[in-house]
Amino acid sequence: MSMKKTVRVRFAPSPTGHLHVGGARTALMNYLFARHHKGKFILRIEDTDITRSSRESEEKLLDALLWLGLEWDEGPKIGGPYGPYRQSERLELYREYARELVKEGKAYPVYASPEEIDEVRTKLLAEGKPPHFSESDFARFTSESRRKEYERMGKEPVIMFKMPRKEYKLMDLIKGEIIFREGAIGDFVILRSNGLPTYNFACVIDDHDMEITHVIRGDDHLSNTLRQLAIYEAFEWTPPKFAHVSMILAPDGSKLSKRHGATSVEEFRAMGILPEAMVNYLALLGWSHPEGKEIMSLEEMVKVFDLDRVHSSPAIFDVNKLKWMNGVYMRNGDLDRLTKLAIPFVVSYGLLERKEAEANFKWLKKAIESVRNSVETLAEIPEKLDVYFEEVQPDEELFEEIRKKNLKPVFVEIKYALEDLQKWEEKEIVRCFKEVLKNFKVPKKDFYMTLRQLLTGRREGPELVKVIYLLGRTRVLERLARIEER
Ligand code: GLU
Repeated sequence: MSMKKTVRVRFAPSPTGHLHVGGARTALMNYLFARHHKGKFILRIEDTDITRSSRESEEKLLDALLWLGLEWDEGPKIGGPYGPYRQSERLELYREYARELVKEGKAYPVYASPEEIDEVRTKLLAEGKPPHFSESDFARFTSESRRKEYERMGKEPVIMFKMPRKEYKLMDLIKGEIIFREGAIGDFVILRSNGLPTYNFACVIDDHDMEITHVIRGDDHLSNTLRQLAIYEAFEWTPPKFAHVSMILAPDGSKLSKRHGATSVEEFRAMGILPEAMVNYLALLGWSHPEGKEIMSLEEMVKVFDLDRVHSSPAIFDVNKLKWMNGVYMRNGDLDRLTKLAIPFVVSYGLLERKEAEANFKWLKKAIESVRNSVETLAEIPEKLDVYFEEVQPDEELFEEIRKKNLKPVFVEIKYALEDLQKWEEKEIVRCFKEVLKNFKVPKKDFYMTLRQLLTGRREGPELVKVIYLLGRTRVLERLARIEER
């Protein structure tokens, strides 16, 4: 009887910038897979490229993941039994393993600068040859005289992995069988002269050391997977299972990039996308619910997620679909929460100061309720709220129309009735209008349209009774009084 191993997956970003939607989707798939199989979701920071990595990027990355609700079980901030989870804190481990491979003849020191190595490689490629060192290059780079020269100058060699000349096969959980033909890639650096490991090496050491069972990542890593399979083999370690997810493309079929607009989680957040909508949309990039369901929570996804429903064809990122989905969440979500999330947008748009917004929370909540059906993002809310903040200029044409349609007596009557209203409440306002209009024979539509224009200067907007209620008695009476003044 075989005991099934606990699923352990990881998201292993390099902290070199924002969390791109592609990375976010990878993180999400790992998260869903871990939760579905009651396993562990590990966050590992791959920061050995010191020129490009920064703590600031790392912080932003963690923030973005937490914003999406993708909490990790082991990783930075919380630690765990397999730590540290930052590669820059594990350097000695990589060095030890690199030395082991050298001892076994599976890797070798090269006394050449990265530029020199690159030069040889570029030349081989330009000549259409496989990227393998010629015997003379090899002899030159590993020669005794070079070794001595390096020693004398206190310089360290790079360590290169001897890539076996053979075919590799992979049973990918998404793509099926993948065959890497013999000689596709040449020897490669695993340890730089500054003692830092390269991605492919550190990744294998960590995935092994952290007992990762499944590697779920973008298929742009396929050629890395080949290198990694060879390293597993060199150590006689069993590799994890691999699942390569297809890329995310822009609607025009090209790789999703800056020129298509927002591409990072941070940017979408700033655009006023809700995290639950972002997560929902990301999940559907390359995966589908067994019953074709579109709107679903993270918990629902966890219940049904598995790799067998991840498509092998590329996914198209359609920002309009994301916004549509966000709109659905905006309309149906908890209003208190929506209001809290909208406050920073209202404040930065300049409608209210933060303190004012907080002090008038109940009013703001109602105002947001009145516009949430007409927006798709949080960022679109303030503009819709303008109607409650703007000064309205008296409009001569409108007064002319009121005269022509003989609406003035109704307005006057309404004004008195509103003035006398006991409680300024929507229900009361509705009742008041009904009562007054009973006594006049005016087309209701005409009346209400004129009223809207008089109160807001616009022909459309939120439900009129809400507008009246939210503008407040003083402003409504003031604007109605303009008719009397004519
Ligand atoms: N640090 C790599 C990246 O950000 C990780 C790839 C992997 O998951 O192995 O692309």
